[in-house]
Amino acid sequence: MDLAGENALAPYLPDFGPGSVWLVGAGPGDPGLLSLLALHALQRADAIVHDALVDPRIVGLARPGASVEYAGKRGGRPSPKQRDISARLVDLAKEGKRVLRLKGGDPFVFGRGAEEALALVAAGVPFRIVPGITAGIGGLAYAGIPPTSRDINTAVTFVTGHNSEGVVPDGLDWESLAKGSPVLILYMAVKHLGGIAKRLIAAGRPPGQPVAIVSKATTAEQRVLETVLGEAAAAAEANAIETPAIVVIGDVVRLRAGLDWLGALAGRVLVAEPIPGKQRQHAS
Ligand code: SAH
Repeated sequence: MDLAGENALAPYLPDFGPGSVWLVGAGPGDPGLLSLLALHALQRADAIVHDALVDPRIVGLARPGASVEYAGKRGGRPSPKQRDISARLVDLAKEGKRVLRLKGGDPFVFGRGAEEALALVAAGVPFRIVPGITAGIGGLAYAGIPPTSRDINTAVTFVTGHNSEGVVPDGLDWESLAKGSPVLILYMAVKHLGGIAKRLIAAGRPPGQPVAIVSKATTAEQRVLETVLGEAAAAAEANAIETPAIVVIGDVVRLRAGLDWLGALAGRVLVAEPIPGKQRQHAS
């Protein structure tokens, strides 16, 4: 089905002009989570340049005849330099192609989308940004964990678990995070989970605080490990948790007992009890 051929949708699907780049978030995995603009771009693009984290089923929705290039960056594998990826996007656009740069999740959330977009600006290449569902929100939803819940938290923080050198980011003020952010959602954190938990506990976060690790969220291989902060790193190892995985630290994890809708579809009995240890508040 050609989306732009549908009269009701056509007004919302801008022209994908030759010589331009669309920087598009593909979401965490499930192709059903693609936006209409993302699907439209897949149906129009001449050249697609995608990350390792983009689900193969999504790349499979490309227009037949589109060229598809992998420009992934995964730990351990040789990967093209960021500069080379940006240069490649510019070259393809200058050749007059409709270039779709497809990234996992949202392009502007720990995705280096800003760097690529700025390279396009510098080269005078027209572009559009299409946000995607980030793993830290969409992946949690598929695990039945809300990033915020009125009775639990009024703030949430997205954190990266390693810096560009691949080590725990010491530039982060872990003590303030431990004290000030009731819910932490960590990307790229499984490898350094032990060190991160140690810093948070040293800053006063209870070792018994609930943690969930959502691996390969929204795909058929999704696994969710529920544990506590003091045991999270050992539990991840003992359960051979595979990446990519999102780590969420905070009392919202308790809500999964009632909200694991995916588990319910597979027969899990959900518990609609109020959260243990939390007083229900009612709006006046
Ligand atoms: N731009 C992406 C994040 C890229 S950083 C986004 O918005 O989602 C890569 C990290 O994203 C991974 O280390 C992991 O923490 C997380 N991630 C991406 N896809 C995931 C998935 N399907 N399940 C769990 N975590 C995922």
